[in-house]
Amino acid sequence: MELRAVKGMNDILPDEAARWQRLEQAFREHVARYGYDEVRTPILEHTALFSRQIGETTDVVEKEMYSFARHGDELTVRPEGTAGAARAYVEHKIHTKEPVSRWYYLGPMFRGERPAKGRYRQFYQAGCELYGDAGPLADAEMIEMILSLLSSGLGISNIEVRLNSLGASGTRARYRDALVAYFTPMKDKLSEDSQRRLEKNPLRILDSKDPRDREASKGAPSILELLDEADAAHFAGVRRHLDALDVRYIVDPTLVRGLDYYTRTLFEFVTTAGDLGAQSTVVGGGRYDNMIEGLGGPSVPAIGFAMGIERLLTLMPGEASRERPAIYIAPLSDTCTSRALVLGRDLRARGVRVEVDGRGGRLKAMLRRADSLGAKLCVILGDGELERGVVSVKDLAAHKQDEVPLADAADVLAARARAEVSPPPGEAR
Ligand code: ATP
Ligand code: MG
Repeated sequence: MELRAVKGMNDILPDEAARWQRLEQAFREHVARYGYDEVRTPILEHTALFSRQIGETTDVVEKEMYSFARHGDELTVRPEGTAGAARAYVEHKIHTKEPVSRWYYLGPMFRGERPAKGRYRQFYQAGCELYGDAGPLADAEMIEMILSLLSSGLGISNIEVRLNSLGASGTRARYRDALVAYFTPMKDKLSEDSQRRLEKNPLRILDSKDPRDREASKGAPSILELLDEADAAHFAGVRRHLDALDVRYIVDPTLVRGLDYYTRTLFEFVTTAGDLGAQSTVVGGGRYDNMIEGLGGPSVPAIGFAMGIERLLTLMPGEASRERPAIYIAPLSDTCTSRALVLGRDLRARGVRVEVDGRGGRLKAMLRRADSLGAKLCVILGDGELERGVVSVKDLAAHKQDEVPLADAADVLAARARAEVSPPPGEAR
């Protein structure tokens, strides 16, 4: 039987991994400028953490979690990063150590969804969480941070920012009632899931991808009209700061997102490029001012976001590519192999990427390999060279060959490996 990867879970092979690293590196450097430090939490958490924080009547909790019982624990492979980070924040009493914390994370998440382009069962998210700042400045700064990461950091354009406010819990309760009143007369036109959730969690209907629910949601009441004074002032503050930062956004009063923990500001970054279809949302986030307290901690406001790395990679320009060895070493006989290994080690100690050909055999095959790897120099070490105490060095770009004393080879070759590629003959600088 041929074993294959689990459905919806992908191998990232080295050619592709270079692009992943580029994105991850850009993310880390960008958010570091805003004061974020990395947190690493376990992949497994107690199931109750997610079911309570994300919400019992969400798609994630009802259908998508990988949960199992083992050694007396009910466990779930994390479907998102916010709940685990908040659990760690409370468990380690971070609020007693500093008034404001800025954390980022990066890693795999797991949801048993139907796979499609940009929708997988193991997928990767990078995200940030900011604890301890309730003000609208935090919201606007975070949105600007994401936008500049996408545009300047990753070169992704055609992005729209969608913004809404859900208000605090009182507003949500009033909105819930307004939605129940709105959807009840058309109950039989809704999807089965939405009919079932109508009383308990009608906000979910607005987030449904089912065309029947989308149609029914078109005339739904706007939450923005129900905001109380404090919520409305907060939202106005976010908008004012975004305007000051020249961030363009669309206010979308039907934006609710798929997780129950959000309060007040909610946002989504959507690509308008069109090649991701129903997977066009690349970043989602918002405030969750009640979660820390809900987990048994003090009342600490929080805001965060997560971006889908696979979706961003489909939009990020730049070819897949691998790093090339600067130097390829071709030992031509058994007696030369040990010397080649030593030279390889000494070059690496000088910071050079080196591959030693250990296959044995003919020079021609080794040169071909050096060429196809894109090496700059091929160092040839045969019995003749060894007797004379030299190595032959073929500059594969400049098509030149010379000899270097074996004793200085590491220093001389490391310097050449670092030097600019010399221009082809006849092309003056
Ligand atoms: P969607 O509406 O597309 O299902 P979501 O609302 O479930 O997304 P969040 O839980 O807010 O998404 O996650 C934030 C981001 O993570 C999404 O915008 C998306 O880019 C990415 N993401 C979510 N689920 C998946 C998945 N199954 N495969 C790949 N990326 C995903
Ligand atoms: Mg989803």
